Amino acid sequence: MAYRAIGFDLDNTLYHPETKFLDALLPKLFGFWQEKHKISSEEFYAMDRAYKKIYGSGLKGFLVHTPDLDLREFSLHLAHQVSDDDYRQYLRPDGELQKILSEIDPHIKKYIVTNAPLTHTHRSLAALGVDHRVFDGIISLDTFGGKFCKPDPEVYQHMVQVSGVPAHEWLFIDDTLENLPPAQQLGMHTVHISPTAGTGEITRDITYQFPRVHHIKKIHGLSKAWPLTTHNSV
Ligand SMILES: [Mg+2]
Repeated sequence: MAYRAIGFDLDNTLYHPETKFLDALLPKLFGFWQEKHKISSEEFYAMDRAYKKIYGSGLKGFLVHTPDLDLREFSLHLAHQVSDDDYRQYLRPDGELQKILSEIDPHIKKYIVTNAPLTHTHRSLAALGVDHRVFDGIISLDTFGGKFCKPDPEVYQHMVQVSGVPAHEWLFIDDTLENLPPAQQLGMHTVHISPTAGTGEITRDITYQFPRVHHIKKIHGLSKAWPLTTHNSV
């Protein structure tokens, strides 16, 4: 398969969930919504769970139900709540990841596709020691002014549009299972990053499933620098 574009989710995909960074980050994010909606943390978690069922994403629910949302305010809140030391405490430079990204065929466009704000994306990449210039673009919450986020189909349509690469030549990588079907429905190939990959059942909607993003080296056609091995296509 000749891929011409790859979309990488950021959180818990480019770094492993065992870093516990997202666990540390989420309460700080929640604080913003709690203050906005004047709700207790119990109410927040109940709304988050309900929104996940309705929209496939808790964030999406809060975006929809916060009509006066100022995205800059949200980004600033996060930027102030999470210090550079926090980023460095949880995320370590990952030379292997930087090497893998830089070895991907230069003809294949690479994008970050994240529901997080752009500032968080840049700070995370810096802490991981990944040069943001290795990517052709960053599609973030800011791209859509906070109106759309994965798994909204608009996000995937935007990926195709901005890259000029048709969906069937895309590889989309995410740890959140709910974010994969809309990509698949558009014709993209999908990679589910799951720490338990290989131990459980794989749904037929996923093209590949790996425990870590580094295992994309097993996918044929992404880099001439990588040895051909048997891949886990399903
Ligand atoms: Mg993620």
